[in-house]
Amino acid sequence: MFNSDPRLIRLIMSLRNQGISDTKVLAAIERVPRAEFVSRDFAGEALADRALPIECGQTISQPYIVAYMTQQLALNDRLKVLEVGTGSGYQAAVLSHLCRRVYTIERYRTLLRAAEARFAALGITNITSMAGDGMKGWPAQAPFDRIMVTAAAGSVPEKLADQLKIGGRMILPLTDDNGDQSLLLVERDSDGFIEKPLIPVRFVPLVPGIAKEM
Ligand code: SAH
Repeated sequence: MFNSDPRLIRLIMSLRNQGISDTKVLAAIERVPRAEFVSRDFAGEALADRALPIECGQTISQPYIVAYMTQQLALNDRLKVLEVGTGSGYQAAVLSHLCRRVYTIERYRTLLRAAEARFAALGITNITSMAGDGMKGWPAQAPFDRIMVTAAAGSVPEKLADQLKIGGRMILPLTDDNGDQSLLLVERDSDGFIEKPLIPVRFVPLVPGIAKEM
C-alpha cells in the first residue's frame, strides 16, 4: 500500500534513523492508520513520534517503542502471539500483519470494544481478543511463540512465562525499586529463561484483575 502523506514518510524515516531496520516492521507501521486508534482530538498528532492518551486514563505508546518492541520479537507468519494490554488496539494491529494470529487481553471492556470495532473496520481478521486479567495469560490458547506486555509490572508475571513456548520470546516493561522502567527481553530455551535488559521506557502500570468500572 502506498501512502504519500509527508508526515508518514517523516515518521518512517525517523524510525529508520533510530535503528528500526526490519523492513517488514516498517511496512506494518506504514500500513496501520494510527489516527484511527486515537480520539478525534488527537488524530492530527497521530503521525508524530509520541505517546498519546486514550480512554480510561491509558496511553498508546510512541511509534518508535511499538516498532522497537515488535522488531525485538523477530516475528514471522507462522507464529502465535499473545499481547497483554490491548488498549487502543494499535499494537495488536501492527502485530497482526507480521504473524499468524494475535491473542490480546484488556482489563477495560470499554477499550476492548473500541479496539474490536477498529479491527473489524480495518478488515483485520487474525486477532482474537478478550476482557480479562492478562497477568494470568490465556491458558486455553497457550503456549505462545511470542508474548508482548504493554503495561509495566514489578517482575515477570510467572503465569505468562509458563505460557511461553520453548524457543519463544517475551518482551515486557519492568519497573524497578526507584520507579524507573526498562524493557526486558526474555528468551526461553530447554534449560530455562535468559533475560536481556533493553532500553528505558515509560508505560502505564500492569494492574491485576479486570477493571470494575466501564
Ligand atoms: N498496546 C496498547 C497500549 C496499551 S496501554 C495500544 O497499542 O494502544 C496499556 C494497557 O494495558 C491499558 O489499556 C491497560 O488497561 C491494560 N492493562 C493493564 N493491566 C492489565 C492486565 N492485568 N490485563 C490486561 N490489560 C491490562
